[in-house]
Amino acid sequence: MSNAEPQGLSALEIRLQRESVLPDHEARRHGVTGPHIAASKFTPPAAAPEAKSEKPAKKKKKPLLETKNLHKSYRKGRLTIPVLRGVDFAAEEGKITTIIGQSGSGKSTLLHLMGTLDSPDSGEINFANTRIDKLNIRQRDALRSRAFGMIFQFYHLLPELTTLENVLTPIMISHGMWRYWAARKKFRKRAEELLEMVGLGHRVTHKPRELSGGEMQRTAIARALIAQPRILLADEPTGNLDEQTGGEIMDILKRLNREQNLTIVMVTHDNAIAEQGHETIRLTGGRVEKT
Ligand code: ADP
Ligand code: MG
Repeated sequence: MSNAEPQGLSALEIRLQRESVLPDHEARRHGVTGPHIAASKFTPPAAAPEAKSEKPAKKKKKPLLETKNLHKSYRKGRLTIPVLRGVDFAAEEGKITTIIGQSGSGKSTLLHLMGTLDSPDSGEINFANTRIDKLNIRQRDALRSRAFGMIFQFYHLLPELTTLENVLTPIMISHGMWRYWAARKKFRKRAEELLEMVGLGHRVTHKPRELSGGEMQRTAIARALIAQPRILLADEPTGNLDEQTGGEIMDILKRLNREQNLTIVMVTHDNAIAEQGHETIRLTGGRVEKT
């Protein structure tokens, strides 16, 4: 860790707040709403500023999330396996950007790096104009819990918890039990509203083993949204579901994007799914091929 790095969270938080990545201190202290995802209603955001502009947008919008010349290899014994070999990727705010590629092409690796679950060997990752590939563990945790929502192919729900409790886990972790407990009614209400929104209002007390795959993924979506993230990162969210159920999950994601302006980056190996994004990039040979 270099000495130049900000001590603790404050410097990063101030920066991210300036970029409006994080809800303000007060809101977070009281454990309530950030500016992004309203749990209860699908009210359209108060006018997407640039969409309504009279003037043609001359300069290209800065991406919300981008990578520059990203490299990542894995080591297996004496072998080094290059997976990403200079990936330039950009996801615009308010858009669904899909990443398609064959199995083993490095899609999950790229998504995990962007989600700060792992570190690149070289290159840059920027989120809301903030460099995020060199954060320390505490800063990454803070970023993930406050600005990123993540969903995965296999849902990763905790089997002993109910649907409602699963949705609440990110809040319990990020706020700590005392602060969670103090505001538990508000959080529970928000979790119930989110479950209602994904069509699971009648399943709040079910455990994961009592749910179908589609219902588990809906729960995972509600969990990803509980902390009102600025961006949703999805790794093959329909990869374990039949076509119809996968389509229903895509409908939820598209509705979130359309009605709440949620930015989504989604990885898939399925062309039909990838085509549903506003932008699609293909990973081949460790690099991006524009489609
Ligand atoms: P995709 O999601 O496109 O299927 P991944 O990003 O999971 O691809 O994997 C890309 C390549 O990196 C694969 O060849 C995989 O075997 C390898 N790989 C992924 N994670 C690891 C790891 N932790 N250690 C070693 N090799 C890995
Ligand atoms: Mg994968």
